[in-house]
Amino acid sequence: MPNSEKNSLAKDTFLVGLGVSPGIGIGEAYLVNRSRMAAVERCVMPGEIDAEVARFFRGIDESKRQLEAVKNRVADQKLLEHLYIIDTHLLILQDQMLIDETVSLVRDERLNAEGALSRTLKKFRRVFEEIEDEYLRERASDIDSVGERLLRNLVGEIQRPLTDIDRKVVVVAHDLSPADTMQMDKEKVIGFITDVGGRTSHTAILARSLGIPAVVGLETATVLVPEGAPVIVDGSNGTVVLNPSQETFREYLERKQSFEYFEKELLSYRDLKAETEDGHRVVLKGNIELAEEVRLAQNQGAEGLGLFRTEFLYFNRPTVPSEDEQFEVYRNIVASMAPLPVTIRTLDVGGDKFVPEINLVDESNPAMGLRAIRFSLKEVRLFKAQLRAILRASAHGAVRIMFPMISGVGEVRACKKYLDEVKSELTGMGEAFDSALPVGIMVETPSSALIADLLAREVDFFSVGTNDLIQYCLAVDRGNEHVAHLFEPLHPAILRALRIICRAAREAEIPVGMCGEMAAEPLYAMVLVGMGFDELSMNAPCIPRVKRIIRQLRRDECAAIVDEILSLPTAREVAERLENEMARRFPDIFGAPLI
Ligand code: PEP
Ligand code: MG
Repeated sequence: MPNSEKNSLAKDTFLVGLGVSPGIGIGEAYLVNRSRMAAVERCVMPGEIDAEVARFFRGIDESKRQLEAVKNRVADQKLLEHLYIIDTHLLILQDQMLIDETVSLVRDERLNAEGALSRTLKKFRRVFEEIEDEYLRERASDIDSVGERLLRNLVGEIQRPLTDIDRKVVVVAHDLSPADTMQMDKEKVIGFITDVGGRTSHTAILARSLGIPAVVGLETATVLVPEGAPVIVDGSNGTVVLNPSQETFREYLERKQSFEYFEKELLSYRDLKAETEDGHRVVLKGNIELAEEVRLAQNQGAEGLGLFRTEFLYFNRPTVPSEDEQFEVYRNIVASMAPLPVTIRTLDVGGDKFVPEINLVDESNPAMGLRAIRFSLKEVRLFKAQLRAILRASAHGAVRIMFPMISGVGEVRACKKYLDEVKSELTGMGEAFDSALPVGIMVETPSSALIADLLAREVDFFSVGTNDLIQYCLAVDRGNEHVAHLFEPLHPAILRALRIICRAAREAEIPVGMCGEMAAEPLYAMVLVGMGFDELSMNAPCIPRVKRIIRQLRRDECAAIVDEILSLPTAREVAERLENEMARRFPDIFGAPLI
């Protein structure tokens, strides 16, 4: 990059994306794969067809060899748990549909290998793009990564290798595959920014594991950032500063130092209990979607798993998992967490988690349709197979079972009836299970909050799912960016609902937890302690931060704040009151008080 081009960039150019891995990285830009591979499609002569098919298979072999080499190079303990991503890519390379479709396009349409592959990839991509669930949609990126690698191998293009970086840089890419990210040397790559990506992409998950600050979804970073330009990446708030002025540079350097100091300090909280100064204990647990996340939860000091979203076992596959397959997964998780408890939630499909394989009916309002427990109570055979697998896993460690989207007592009773039937069947078969397995429900519908007292008599524990509770109470679609500003956890209606739920649990003497995203937000810790939550379950990396705050609170002061904010009329006023209070108590986390 000529100097003139570098200098033409205005000072302090700010870009805003999605901060997916916290921390601040300052360095020079290092551009990789500036653009996607464009495959040139052409027709081949009949005599060339066999050679073209052979070339396609050689491309596959070469891609496999490269991925195996990445696997062999990974020695970092932190990365080992993510090797499954490389295995996923290897599986995609062996996918019979991908191979058959491409080969028949070469044979029937007489296309060159790149053209045929690129058409097949487009078709796969369309299928993924139609999926509403964000997590699943992002799995399309695995197909993209594999496709890119395969295309580059077919055209013989060498990628700028990340292993060759010899100085501290900020990697700028259109997208990074998990294999790319795994090769990054944390000493050299001090941050990365990408045009695409979301919070739950594998690359984001890996960045967090590696502790590399990352901002994704910048859309045009690869176009705007010149090679070698000075860049600041703030992965905590999703900001990127190009060509920073001296003043900005100094400001971010200070922020970086205090962030690093704070992170080090947080590590010392790992083995401490989340207990307020006046001795009130809150149990902090991890939420997981995949078995691979167990280790991360353990590393962050999770005292168990408060939510295992089992529907992720049902995604991305042509058939539903058998009872035995589910049992194996549950047993492994339960055994590796033992003696700490694991809360297994039964299938929560439908709504925004669409699984085409189990043939959900076409609904015009899926959020209010045949989802979660309603689906399980209709598809009893599937439901009982899952109950059997969960019960069998309970012989290997502490298990709690949890039913999602309960809206009335009748549903709880129906679930318990099936659970009893399955217990009798297992007893008859001589299978071991925990006969006293605690049974709980997600409180995440307005009706369940309003009748929490009636429900509390029927179950052993509550776990509040704020993601859905807020969506349904405020009538705000949780996935719709146009109404995202109305999704207010501190709305007086939500605070009242939480109070009703906690009081009902206390009166019935059952524990009450929260496993929605609200549990992970440090600003709300005082409110949740004051309300009387016994357990908070969240994405594992959030645990130390919430723990640190809880350890510096007093239960009576939290209860007083709750009484006070419950009288405020708007979410804005509640937020201001809390922000001021938290800034006064924790100036290093929440900044100076507003007033
Ligand atoms: C919730 O609704 O808050 C919850 C934890 O469940 P999910 O996000 O899986 O719907
Ligand atoms: Mg939910």
